[in-house]
Amino acid sequence: MTVDSSQYDVIILGAGASGLLCAFTAAQRGRRVLVIEKANKVGKKILMSGGGKCNFTNHIVEADNFISANPHFCKAALKRYTQWDFIAMVERHGIEVEERKHSQQFCKNSAKEILAMLLDECAQAGVEIRTHCEMQSLKSLDLSGHSDKHQHEDNRPSYQLSLTQDHRVQKLQCQSLVVATGALSIPSLGGSSIGYEIATQFGLTLTERRAGLVPFMFSDQMKPVCERLSGLALEVEVTCNQRSFTENVLFTHRGVSGPVMLQISNYWQQGDEISINLLPYLNMPEWLLEAKNTQGKQLLRTLLIKKLAKGLVKELQELWWPQQADSPLAEMTDKQLIAIGNNINNWQLKPSATEGYRTAEVTLGGVDTAEISSKKMESKQQAGLYFIGEVLDVTGHLGGFNFQWAWSSGYSAGLFV
Ligand SMILES: Cc1cc2nc3c(=O)[nH]c(=O)nc-3n(C[C@H](O)[C@H](O)[C@H](O)COP(=O)(O)OP(=O)(O)OC[C@H]3O[C@@H](n4cnc5c(N)ncnc54)[C@H](O)[C@@H]3O)c2cc1C
Repeated sequence: MTVDSSQYDVIILGAGASGLLCAFTAAQRGRRVLVIEKANKVGKKILMSGGGKCNFTNHIVEADNFISANPHFCKAALKRYTQWDFIAMVERHGIEVEERKHSQQFCKNSAKEILAMLLDECAQAGVEIRTHCEMQSLKSLDLSGHSDKHQHEDNRPSYQLSLTQDHRVQKLQCQSLVVATGALSIPSLGGSSIGYEIATQFGLTLTERRAGLVPFMFSDQMKPVCERLSGLALEVEVTCNQRSFTENVLFTHRGVSGPVMLQISNYWQQGDEISINLLPYLNMPEWLLEAKNTQGKQLLRTLLIKKLAKGLVKELQELWWPQQADSPLAEMTDKQLIAIGNNINNWQLKPSATEGYRTAEVTLGGVDTAEISSKKMESKQQAGLYFIGEVLDVTGHLGGFNFQWAWSSGYSAGLFV
């Protein structure tokens, strides 16, 4: 039997995390699968992730680790393909794993091993992957729109794509088209808006998008403070819009970064303040009043240097008690010490912006999940059109959750395409 080289059961746009997992899942079911990748290489974000060690999942995955206009949407996929399913595959491939704090699972050696594993699974299942391949146009061949009848029964193609590869134009057809093109973050690693454009072409709604897991910048008095403290890291608790995280902050010459700031950036909107608790395990107003009684001859900065970095204490002194810099504690009023203590436990800062998509690890928002089946990842209106991974309005916390979403949503679609 000759195989028509322009006909596929499934075409997947994007050879990233979700696209590759979906590809071999579908091919293992006997579907003829083609993955189209615009870039010269597949899986660039996987290779760059987790500082080259890929934080591929987390031992504790809960719906609360994900942000979406519909917080329930992610549950079915996360249950269908869990962190344990992915870990089992990692173990089958002999990849050594390192668990870091907060139950995060990393490769002990290299993220390359995760990509090699996915490509190995694709090769074994007979998935075809084309790089340097860009879609020019896409049209639906099904004039009747969505039908309840299962698509695969009549074997007719539903979509036609026009592609360019090595300056050659080709027309391909498929029954199921999977959009796995990721989102806007880091254009040099494949960030693109094509997924949203396809969604819009077929009448799907998009939720508002913004950069997530991203450092903050300042334009006020904090800018020079951050510049001077650049390189300093310390554990703090940060709160914004009723969400709190305790982790390291890193001061940079632009503002603040580090895991705690990336986490809270997912909950921050332009104009919001963030609150930093510099010593989350101490009630600082009480602690300072007590110190005034017991160590009244000490300078406040001498006392604080035992708890916080010297450079930071110097900056805080400039901000909060410049007039009393050389006054012993006993000469400071209780009211002053309570105010300083409150500032240490609740330092209110107003970022001017985030660093944006240039450095953001993820994009919040995306294709509205109200129009997608949570079981199949298929558009409810447009039969045979699937969306998986970051293009959807589902964003994970830092800690391996974004990859877990890519695996779970990719697998779910892979069972039905
Ligand atoms: C620097 C960095 C580090 C990260 N580290 C982690 C981590 O350690 N743990 C974690 O859980 N998450 C991490 N993330 C987030 C994670 O990488 C993404 O959430 C995940 O890759 C999303 O998977 P995806 O399949 O939706 O998209 P992607 O993996 O981004 O794949 C999309 C693919 O589509 C391709 N594409 C785009 N447009 C087209 C087009 N027009 N035609 C064909 N192909 C196209 C892209 O080139 C890309 O290969 C990190 C992100 C970044 C940027």
